[in-house]
Formats: sequence, C-alpha cells, structure tokens
Amino acid sequence: MKKNLVLLGPPGAGKGTQAKMLVEKYAIPQISTGDILRKAVAAGTELGKEAKKFMDAGGLVPDDVVIGLVRERLKESDCKDGYILDGFPRTVNQAKSLDDILTKMGDGLTHVVSIEVDEDDLLTRLTGRRTCRECSAMYHITFEAPKKSGVCDKCGGELYQRDDDKEETIKSRLKVYKQQTEPLITYYRGTGLLKTVPGTGGIKDIFSSITKVLE
Ligand code: AMP
Repeated sequence: MKKNLVLLGPPGAGKGTQAKMLVEKYAIPQISTGDILRKAVAAGTELGKEAKKFMDAGGLVPDDVVIGLVRERLKESDCKDGYILDGFPRTVNQAKSLDDILTKMGDGLTHVVSIEVDEDDLLTRLTGRRTCRECSAMYHITFEAPKKSGVCDKCGGELYQRDDDKEETIKSRLKVYKQQTEPLITYYRGTGLLKTVPGTGGIKDIFSSITKVLE
C-alpha cells in the first residue's frame, strides 16, 4: 500500500530520526523542509539568506516559501510510491495548501503520525542534540552518543550543534510549535487520518509503534 505520510510532533520528538528509519524500511524519500532550508542556508542562496533570519530566531519561514519548496519536491519521480513529510506542514495554512497540491496531483495523504512527548523532556533532548554536517545524521550527547565525540559514526563527518538548537532559540521554537503547529493535531483528527504514538522509550520502541499504525 502506498504511504504518503506526515510526521507530526514538537521539535525534539525524534521526527527526523524516525523518518530516516522509515526511509530504510519502506524505500520512500524523507522530505524535510528543515533539511532543505539548511542546505539553502549553507549554499548561501537568496532563499537561504532569507530563511536564515527566521530560522536563527526560532520562528517559522513564511508559508509561501516552504509551500513552494514542497510543491516542487513532490513532483520529483522518487515520490511516486510515497514519501515522508518531516517538519511540514507546520501551520494549518500549510496543511490546507498541501491538501490542494495533492488533490491537483490526483493524490492525498494516507497517514498522519503524531509523536507525543512531554514538554519537559524536549529541552533536554534538543540541547544535547548534535547533527552531522555531511549526512544530517543525528546524535545526542547523552542518549545516542557517537562512538568518537564530534564525529559521525556513519560517514565520519563533523558533528555540530545547530544554531537553532541553542537554549534560547529552542524556547522560541517550542512556543511557536504550541501556537502554530499543535492546532494541526485537531485539523488532522478531523480528517480521520491522525494516529498518535508515544514518543517515550527507546528509538526502536517508537519505531515499532509507528510501523504498527502504518500497517
Ligand atoms: P526543523 O529541522 O524541521 O526543526 O526546521 C528547522 C527550522 O526551519 C524551523 O525552526 C523553521 O525556522 C524552519 N522550517 C522548517 N520547516 C518549516 C515549515 N514547514 N514552515 C516554516 N518554517 C519551517
């Protein structure tokens, strides 16, 4: 069965980690608007320069920018058998635009999986997070430490702390999540697509809860 997925959850819920495991299992691409934007920032494109201002402040990049990115990405041939949207949509307006885009393509979402985590845990998770500059693999200095400090186990790339994983920015990101993204849970509950899974426990436990609701 085709899987057109949305992964929902607050920053730090582990969406990126789970998305990468779903890529392996189902051989469908992960579409992370955060990764696309960070690449544009690293490449110094006009889009990247514009997006960086919002990202560094922990705010959201304007809807029209991210909607445009996703519209183009979904047209690529690797999306024909499904995909995992990670970090998009993040506002009800983005969700409605996504519905329109998919309807025009004669398609629609099949599942929306919301990973639920206690707010208190998120700050610890996010401040300890480290990301590989080369392959975007993620680690945690306490819970998921790399074998060698500062070096990616998978590709040997350098691990760094994202600018927006610093404490002050994280607080803004969590506030933005509550105000703008959490309403999506109600939105998708209304469509009948929503499945919730507990985001506590080990990475593998969370993954098995997710695959259970998908099958
Ligand atoms: P993420 O890696 O998903 O946590 O995204 C990092 C940052 O990129 C966010 O804090 C936003 O500034 C921006 N961003 C990513 N996805 C979106 C989106 N769907 N809408 C608006 N801004 C986004």
